[in-house]
Amino acid sequence: MSVQAVHSFAAGQWMGTDSSAREIHSAITGELIGCAGNSALDVESMLGHAREVGGPRLRALGFHDRARMIKSLALHLGEHKQALYELSFATGATQKDHLIDIDGGIGTLFVFASKGRRELPDGKVYLDGDIEQLSRGGSFLGQHVCTPLHGVAVHINAFNFPVWGMLEKLAPTLLAGVPAIVKPATSTCYVTELCVKLMLDSGILPEGALQLVSGSMGSMLDHLDSQDVVSFTGSAATALTLRSSPHLLKKSVRFIAEQDSLNASVLGPDAVPGTPEFELFIKEVTQEMTTKAGQKCTAIRRVFAPEAHTSAVIDALKLSLASITVGDPREKNTQMGALVSAAHKQDVLQQAALIGAHAERVFGNPDTFTLHGKHAQRDAFLPPMLFHCDSPDTAGPVHDIEAFGPVSTVMPYRDLDHAITLLNRGQGSLVASVITHDADVAREVVLGAAAFHGRLYFNNRESMQESTGHGAPLPHLVHGGPGRAGGGEEMGGVRGVMHYMQRTAIQGSPDVLSFIGKRWVPGSVERQPPAHPFTCTYHELEIGDTLNTPSRLISTEDIEHFAEFTGDTFYAHMDEEAAARNPFFPGRVAHGYLLLSFAAGLFVEPDEGPVLANTGLDKLNFMKPVEAGDSIKVRLTVKHKTPRNDEYGEVRWHVTLTNQDDEPVAEYELLTMNAFEHRL
Ligand code: NAP
Repeated sequence: MSVQAVHSFAAGQWMGTDSSAREIHSAITGELIGCAGNSALDVESMLGHAREVGGPRLRALGFHDRARMIKSLALHLGEHKQALYELSFATGATQKDHLIDIDGGIGTLFVFASKGRRELPDGKVYLDGDIEQLSRGGSFLGQHVCTPLHGVAVHINAFNFPVWGMLEKLAPTLLAGVPAIVKPATSTCYVTELCVKLMLDSGILPEGALQLVSGSMGSMLDHLDSQDVVSFTGSAATALTLRSSPHLLKKSVRFIAEQDSLNASVLGPDAVPGTPEFELFIKEVTQEMTTKAGQKCTAIRRVFAPEAHTSAVIDALKLSLASITVGDPREKNTQMGALVSAAHKQDVLQQAALIGAHAERVFGNPDTFTLHGKHAQRDAFLPPMLFHCDSPDTAGPVHDIEAFGPVSTVMPYRDLDHAITLLNRGQGSLVASVITHDADVAREVVLGAAAFHGRLYFNNRESMQESTGHGAPLPHLVHGGPGRAGGGEEMGGVRGVMHYMQRTAIQGSPDVLSFIGKRWVPGSVERQPPAHPFTCTYHELEIGDTLNTPSRLISTEDIEHFAEFTGDTFYAHMDEEAAARNPFFPGRVAHGYLLLSFAAGLFVEPDEGPVLANTGLDKLNFMKPVEAGDSIKVRLTVKHKTPRNDEYGEVRWHVTLTNQDDEPVAEYELLTMNAFEHRL
């Protein structure tokens, strides 16, 4: 591989390196393959370009436009992933590791694209929660809304996932409508550079939405302000230096930190040798120690087993680790590749030596292991190294030192309380797992340890076939952890998007709030549609379009007929005296479902038309009983609309049933799919 200058992409221009550039070496062969950095990088113009060009262009789009854009990026990267695989081997990663980094990154884009279309509105304002009633008469209400920050997101990433690490931050940022400047770790930035180049060359992103810093970012952080966000992934030491910058503190710049973590796994007290859980535990620990050569923020560093089974766990792990082929990641049979660099290997060995002062190394000799592949140089390779510490209560460093490589320590626990105490000695972690088939154990762990961990992963014989793995952060779930893990949170679906938006409490009249949120609020104007709303296409319907139906009398015969027809002969509908003894009813009452059915009978338009299907009811409340002799009428109002594809969209109707005294008796939201075109 030839030496290449890894470029930055600054204010619309690719920029090469200068004499300040740092060297980058192949993890496999140690040869010099590139360099990155340019002291002439104009960080102020980069920030200006993002804020003045990228931000406005992204904010001109709605959530759904941006979600479609993210999906296009995912499809485009999927078509070119082979090139990313090829380049990534030099980082020491195997093909299996590529699936986590490259395919995992692309998969994260897909999930955010899909969540953006399903869970965010087809507009520019996200409504956070329901209307808050602030006045007796309902003419003054409150609503929380979220809108994109007007600044730039600066993403500083760790070396271990040059693609996923970027995309898991980029997806929620772009979905929010905020431009990003990505700064990958220098040692693997050439892979990120290719990925950024692919995205920019695709023409999918608006100008200014994405820039790249390869090498040092100079004084960029000193020019951020309160509309900007720093999202950092890396070591606790770097996080502390950056987040304590007086400038960032003075400007209240949001700082999200994902840092190192002493993750742990517990073999449940029930998971004795011979059970499927015991085997599963050995498999999970082996996988976590060897995937990405243990350079995963979520990897299992501490392994807790019941005292009686500690030696069985060590024996089984030794057997399992002995079957792992370490070597040139380009070779098909290799299961564990290299660490990112010779220098990083030295760091890991140093940390392992500190752990070794409190624990015995029971597997993996860094001086004598077998290395496969004739081109691989030993400089950056290590075998999996397993330690055994038999006094976990007094061996503080094993709960504190992160050897960011294939290094784990097995420790005994006396009982579940002891296991929980040890779990929490990681001082806050990204993930802890418990392999148990006992739901009581799982619940105890949640009560005793959830506050100390960003994610708890329970696995057993029932879930193991489909489980996603201790170490896999998923875009649907939050990734992050308290304390030592940085106190940050990323992903978690829409939660991750909110890190790049401002939540604002809005107060005003129902009309004002309806208009801002494009969501009809009770008390705001009801529009008269030109025809029955069920005869209107999706686009013809407008928020606030309302149908008021005539009323219908409810008779005893109706109630009896419904009871007999459906089989619902619950006493409250059939037995006057028994119903009267019930504190909720004055006497015999109509079925709630009868009321819903009559309501449909009152508001539907029977002929074939743009309403394609009723897909559900939400938030159903029966507010007042209805007796024979009462009558009901319905108000049906278009509350909200969400396009689903090129042919139809979802209409959410606010439905209120009132009685002859105009008292509400039931309320719900009805969901229909409505065609974009008239069908006949
Ligand atoms: P690192 O040395 O802390 O570097 C992280 C990032 O910070 C790199 O991009 C680095 O750039 C940059 N950086 C360092 N000093 C900086 C400064 N003064 N100003 C601006 N940027 C600066 O960590 P790493 O060695 O890349 O990654 C390993 C660590 O990351 C491990 O501790 C691991 O646990 C943690 N990690 C955590 C997560 C998570 O999600 N919690 C995920 C992955 C890794 P340069 O490379 O150019 O120095």
